[in-house]
Amino acid sequence: MVHLDTSRQTTLAREVELTGTGVHSGAPVTITIVPADADTGIRFRRIDGTAGPAVPAVWQSVAATELCTMLAGSDGRTIGTIEHLMAAFRGLGIDNALVEIDGPELPIMDGSAADFVEELEIAGLYPLATRRRMLRVLKPVRVESKGAVAELLPHDMPRFEIEIDFAGTLIGKQAMAFNLTPGVFRKELARARTFGFLHEVEALWAMGYARGSSLDNAVAIDGDRILNPEGTRWADEFVRHKALDAVGDLALAGHAILGLYRSSKGGHRLNYEMVKALFADSANYEIVPAPAVAAPELPAQVRELAV
Ligand SMILES: [Zn+2]
Repeated sequence: MVHLDTSRQTTLAREVELTGTGVHSGAPVTITIVPADADTGIRFRRIDGTAGPAVPAVWQSVAATELCTMLAGSDGRTIGTIEHLMAAFRGLGIDNALVEIDGPELPIMDGSAADFVEELEIAGLYPLATRRRMLRVLKPVRVESKGAVAELLPHDMPRFEIEIDFAGTLIGKQAMAFNLTPGVFRKELARARTFGFLHEVEALWAMGYARGSSLDNAVAIDGDRILNPEGTRWADEFVRHKALDAVGDLALAGHAILGLYRSSKGGHRLNYEMVKALFADSANYEIVPAPAVAAPELPAQVRELAV
């Protein structure tokens, strides 16, 4: 792979097309990821029916965070389940792309970011002339909701410390901490699948949601059993997936974040509230040019608490 100068913005070297199933609609969906100019950011555009506006993937475009992270355009049409593709863009360091989509939600693929990462890496990254900018956290920012807590703290690397606690289930308490680099993202996060408890999925099915959800795209838990015959990809796949979601949701800040994101019992709602709180006060952050020297690839600092 080409060694990229991390101080410059990137896009894709060519178009990427992926087809799959929408996890909530159960309908087939195709996305085309198109290279974009510097300072475009990541944008999503509905192309079913009349082509819609190119909706910037930033927190101001968020319409819902209940079952997934969903954007809405000025035409009112929504684009759901963006978080795993957003994580892949941020994880691999892709700053600019236009995602065209022929339906209301992204394909769920296998419930992780693995297929997105594979296709994006096959296409390759294309360096642009424009300097990359990052968001540096200047002061601690904290949000809380129903026992869940998240905070952003000043730090000289993009760092995540994620903890979950599903006491009384086979998930139990899990935690992981890492500096976000493409290598760590690819190896430790990208393949972690979404998960759910069978009784919750059944309740969603009864309400007409999660129609495309199956053991092909989620780890399903029933009591103290994992229903997937292949089991989990890691014993702590659950916290790894929460970390993947956090990387994708924090990408809605519109820049890579130089700071430490710490979250306990979080989810899409809390991640979104965090980004909103960050931007609520301009004294919380500054936008800085990315360092001119490539950041060294640090080893994943993964630790697992008692499960
Ligand atoms: Zn997820």
